[in-house]
Amino acid sequence: MSRRAPRRHELDAVVVGAGVVGTAAALGLARAGLQVALVEAREPPRWQADAPDLRVFAVAPDNGALLDRLGAWQPISRARVQPYRAMRVWDAGGGEALVFDADRLGRRELGWIIENRLLVDRLWAAAQQAGVRLHCPDRITGLEQGLDGAGVELESGQRLRTRLVVGADGAGSRVRELVGVETRGRSYGQRGLVAYVEHSLPHQATCWQRFLPGGPLAFLPFAGTPEGRHRSSIVWSLPETEAERLLQVDDARFLAELSRAFDGPLGGLDAVSARAAFPLRRQLARTQLQGRVVLVGDAAHVVHPLAGQGVNLGLRDVAGLLDALRTDAGGDVGAPARLARWHRRRRSDNTVSAHAFDLIDRVYSNEAPLPALLRGHLLGLAGRMPPLTRALWRHAAGMAEGGASGPHRSSSGSTSSG
Ligand SMILES: Cc1cc2nc3c(=O)[nH]c(=O)nc-3n(C[C@H](O)[C@H](O)[C@H](O)COP(=O)(O)OP(=O)(O)OC[C@H]3O[C@@H](n4cnc5c(N)ncnc54)[C@H](O)[C@@H]3O)c2cc1C
Repeated sequence: MSRRAPRRHELDAVVVGAGVVGTAAALGLARAGLQVALVEAREPPRWQADAPDLRVFAVAPDNGALLDRLGAWQPISRARVQPYRAMRVWDAGGGEALVFDADRLGRRELGWIIENRLLVDRLWAAAQQAGVRLHCPDRITGLEQGLDGAGVELESGQRLRTRLVVGADGAGSRVRELVGVETRGRSYGQRGLVAYVEHSLPHQATCWQRFLPGGPLAFLPFAGTPEGRHRSSIVWSLPETEAERLLQVDDARFLAELSRAFDGPLGGLDAVSARAAFPLRRQLARTQLQGRVVLVGDAAHVVHPLAGQGVNLGLRDVAGLLDALRTDAGGDVGAPARLARWHRRRRSDNTVSAHAFDLIDRVYSNEAPLPALLRGHLLGLAGRMPPLTRALWRHAAGMAEGGASGPHRSSSGSTSSG
């Protein structure tokens, strides 16, 4: 991206929504020399080391590299990241496990488990340092587009003139609504129950996922407690009524049911943190580009968490956007023609991914006899075909199209004990 001639707008870009995706977008655009405003409805809570955020993400290597390019990886990895070196996926109905192993894939790690609040906290600080103008707390209330720019109205009464609007305001996006973009999708009738659990054996820097008829149960490795206890973050996809019941039962009962459902190699489950649950659905915006408005992250696509790709797809929207603007240097950053190629690529990746997770959920989260018979064997079969395992992993890691393979070695986070 380069500076263009006489500026007729006070801003190049207005980003609405300062979750992980929006803050990364604002930071990236500012680092490219653009004038950027970031509008956020709520001041994000500060990250605190002794109060881990229940919402964690498995960040893929290409997005680790993006955070590095944005200058945010060092402060994040210095605070707390948990590398994972293996993934093991198996079906409760039997059959072999599908295993992804860093050594066999020639990698030091497959990705990192990072708290949502930590990501937002450090990206937010970097965005401020990079000169992003924050409007917080404030909300977008109006949006109009002209031939050469867009006007954004805020609840505070301010009006911003810009060339590009980035809607990163989450699943219930107001930006999407204001530009009249509809969504389609379906509810999975499930909720994702999240918590931290302490266990007697080390997690071996491994993500464990067991498919159960009601939905997948994942144990994601996390830093040990200050007392040295092994700890993992769980994401348990459950039918809504089951999730509601398991939010209510006492800790002992919860741990007993969790232990039965997991049946995994982490030993006894001894303690559980507070629990929370979020609704699961597939939701795709009909388009991610409407004039000078682009939709990124959950504003454009909400997917099942079974592949840990939700936030990764959103960060890929951002990486692609930054590349598109860099490739076509100069000129009008919000010109729709300039964003068309970005849009085709991202929409295709997001749509294929959302439907693939949908298919996996349909096959694995059900008790019909045929899928039950086949699915364990399918996992085992995939696991016995190294080229297929490698191809699957490269896709999940964002390396299928030659994406970067991670942050620079010197700035990579250190492994925490399980
Ligand atoms: C409760 C919950 C728990 C989750 N847990 C997990 C998990 O454990 N693992 C996982 O992989 N995924 C989880 N997800 C999904 C994951 O959080 C999302 O995929 C990811 O956060 C998307 O990031 P985003 O930046 O696109 O959107 P968001 O994180 O939703 O950020 C959107 C931002 O926009 C702001 N905003 C909204 N409306 C306006 C407006 N009108 N004006 C200005 N600002 C506005 C919001 O305050 C928010 O800060 C969870 C989702 C929820 C709701």
